[in-house]
Amino acid sequence: MASSALYRRFRTLLIANRGEIACRVIRTARAMGLRTVAVYSEADRDALHVAEADEAVLIGPARARDSYLSIERILEAAKSSGAEAIHPGYGFLSESAEFAQACADAGIVFVGPTAAMITAMGSKSGSKMLMEKAGVPLVPGFHGEAQDEATLAKAADKIGFPVLVKASAGGGGRGMRVVRSAVELAAAIVSAKREAKAAFGDDRMLIEKYVDNPRHIEVQIVGDSHGNLLSLFERECTLQRRHQKVIEEAPSPTLNAAQRDAVCAAARKAAGAVNYVGAGTIEFVSDGKDVFFIEMNTRLQVEHPVTELITGIDLVEWQLRVAFGEKLPLTQDQITLNGHAIEARVYAENPHKNFMPSVGKIRTWRTPEESNGLRIDAGYRQGDAVSPNYDAMLAKVIAWAPTRDAAIDRLNRGLEDTDVRGIVTNIPFLSALVTHPDVRANTIDTGFIERELKTLTPPPAAPGDIELCAAVAAIVSQEEAAQAGVKSPWQTAGWMPVGRRQRVFKFRHGADEHKVTLQYGSGPAKLLIGHREFAFTSSPGEDGHFDLTLDGSRSRIVAVIEGHELYLRTRNGRFDIHWVDPFGGDDEEQVGEDKIMAPLPGTVVALLAEEGATLEKGAAILTLEVMKMEQTLRAPFAGVLKSIKCKVGDIVQEGVELAEVEPTESKSA
Ligand code: ADP
Ligand code: ADP
Ligand code: MG
Repeated sequence: MASSALYRRFRTLLIANRGEIACRVIRTARAMGLRTVAVYSEADRDALHVAEADEAVLIGPARARDSYLSIERILEAAKSSGAEAIHPGYGFLSESAEFAQACADAGIVFVGPTAAMITAMGSKSGSKMLMEKAGVPLVPGFHGEAQDEATLAKAADKIGFPVLVKASAGGGGRGMRVVRSAVELAAAIVSAKREAKAAFGDDRMLIEKYVDNPRHIEVQIVGDSHGNLLSLFERECTLQRRHQKVIEEAPSPTLNAAQRDAVCAAARKAAGAVNYVGAGTIEFVSDGKDVFFIEMNTRLQVEHPVTELITGIDLVEWQLRVAFGEKLPLTQDQITLNGHAIEARVYAENPHKNFMPSVGKIRTWRTPEESNGLRIDAGYRQGDAVSPNYDAMLAKVIAWAPTRDAAIDRLNRGLEDTDVRGIVTNIPFLSALVTHPDVRANTIDTGFIERELKTLTPPPAAPGDIELCAAVAAIVSQEEAAQAGVKSPWQTAGWMPVGRRQRVFKFRHGADEHKVTLQYGSGPAKLLIGHREFAFTSSPGEDGHFDLTLDGSRSRIVAVIEGHELYLRTRNGRFDIHWVDPFGGDDEEQVGEDKIMAPLPGTVVALLAEEGATLEKGAAILTLEVMKMEQTLRAPFAGVLKSIKCKVGDIVQEGVELAEVEPTESKSA
C-alpha cells in the first residue's frame, strides 16, 4: 500500500489505551486541535482518561483481553465514533503488527510504524539478525531458529557463562533468566519457556552473554514517511527491578560526548535498516565502555518525557505529525540537548511486601504544582479506584534542571510533596532511591536495587516530638471544625475560664505507645511528652497543611485523619500513627493467620509445596499472578501444610482461602 494511504491528515483520534499514557496523548492531541475519543472497559467507567477525552466508548468487560486488547472492539469503537486514526500508547496493542495491519485494512491511520516494521523488529531474534547485517554492535549470543536442548546448551557453552536466556517475543522483563553455570541451564530454559508461553503465546528463546554490572542505555529515534530519520539523544535506565525500569534519566551520566555520538549513530543505523517510521527506541546494554544492541521498541516509551524535557520536543506531537504524512520539522543538527531530566515511576505497590501490588480506592491524591521544572504525568486522581486488572503504574514524576544534581534534588522534592492515601505506593522507596549516594555518584548497575533493597526500604521511623504534637493539633482542629463555635485552646487564651485543663492523647506506632498531655487554659497551650514540655501553637492552612510552632520554631506539616488513623508528613518524613480512642471501641489485632488467603484477586500459577509437607517459617507455598506480577505466598510460621484449596489455573477472588498451615509450636515463636 502506498504510504500516502497509510499516513494522512485526520481530525479525530482514538486512543487505544488507559491510565497516564492515554491522558498524556489526549493532552497533546487536544492542543493540536484534534477531537479525542477514549475507549474504556467496565472497570474504567469513571477513569480520568475517560473524563479528559471529548468522547468515550465502552469497549467491554474489565479483563484486558476482552477490552483493551480486543482489536475487533477497538476498531468498532473507531467506526462508531468516526475516528480516522488510532494512537496505541504503550503496552496493550502498541507493538501488535496484527493491530497495525487491521487498522490499515480498515482505512484507519495507525499512529506508529507499519505492520511490516513491527514484525521485523518485534522479535528479538529477528531484529538481532537484521542488526548483525546492518553492522550494529550486538551482545554476543545465539539467536538462531533451532530450539532443541542440545543446540541451546552448545550455544551457551560457546558464549561462556554467565548467560541470559531470553524470550524472543518478550517484554516487560518477563521470560528472562540469568544462568551462571551449565548445570542450571536446562531448568532455566524450561521455566523461561513456560513464562513466555503464558505471557506472549510464543516460547522461542535466544541466549546472550550476560553483560556484567550492566547499564541500560537507549536512544530515542523518530522517522517520517519521507525517508528522514533523527535521533533525539539517549536515556539511561539502569535503575531497574527484575529487568523493569524504575528511574530513567536523560542524558546518560555515564557516556562522554564521543560515546554519545557513537550510540546515537548506531541507533540511527539500526532504525535505518527498516526505514523506520514513527517514534521508536533502540535499547542497548553497556559494560560502561561499549554498548551492545539488545532490542527495539516500536512505540512511544514510558520514559519519553525525559527526552522531551532535554530537547524541548513534544514527542506525541511529532508522532501525530508523522502520522499526518508530514516531514519531520527539524534536521539532526537542529536538535540540541539542554540540561538534565530524571523520571520516577509511581506504582501502587508495597516495597515492604516484595512489591505486592495494592488495589483499592485512592482517598487522597495530592501532587505538587507543575512548575519550576517539575512535570507530573498522572492517570489517576482522588476518588479513583486502582483495579487489579491492569498495570499498577499510577503516574510519573519528572524533573528538569540545568544539572543532574539539581534535577535529582527537584525530583526528590516533587516526590516528598506527593501524598497518596488509600492504597500503598512506592513513593518513599523512590525517595530513598533518588537520594542514595551511589545514585547521585552514578556508581550503579542494573543489580543495584536488588542489592540495596534493605537500605531502600527502611522500617518506618518512630514519631518524634514534632509528629506527636502535630497529631494532637490535627485531632483538636478536626474536632473544632466538626463543632463550629468551639475555639482553639491555643488560639484563644482563656478559652477555659476556670484554671488550666488537661487532656491526654495516646498514640500507637507499631508496638510502641506514646502519651502526649495537652494543657490549656490561661496563657499559651503546653504539650508534655515524657519530661519534655513545649509551648505550642498551631494554625491550620489549606488542604490539610498546618503550621506548627513548637517553642518558637515553625514548621509546615501535612495531616490527614481517617477515623483513628492519622497520616502525617513532616520534615522528618511520613508517619502513620494510630490514635488510641479513650472511649473504647478500638480495633483488635488480627488473629488466626494459619489460613493462607489471596491478598488480591489473581490467578494461581504454581503450587510450590505438597499437602502434608513440613514447612519452615517463610517457606514458599504457592505463586499467584496479580496485576502481571508473580507473588509467592509463604508460611507465616513453621508448621505442616494441612491442606491446599486451589489448583494451578484457578482464578481466585481477594480473601479466598488458598491453603492452611498448622503450626508445629506456638505461633509467636
Ligand atoms: P518500557 O521500556 O516502555 O517500560 P515495558 O515493556 O516495560 O516498556 O512496557 C511499557 C509499559 O506498558 C509498562 O508500564 C508496562 O507495565 C505496561 N504494559 C505492558 N503490557 C501491558 C498490558 N498488557 N496492560 C497494561 N499495561 C501494560
Ligand atoms: P524487555 O523486552 O523485557 O524490555 P530487554 O531485552 O530490553 O527485554 O531486557 C530487559 C533488561 O534486562 C535490560 O534493560 C537490561 O537491564 C537487562 N538485560 C538485557 N539483556 C542483557 C544482557 N545481555 N546482559 C545483561 N543485562 C541484560
Ligand atoms: Mg527492553
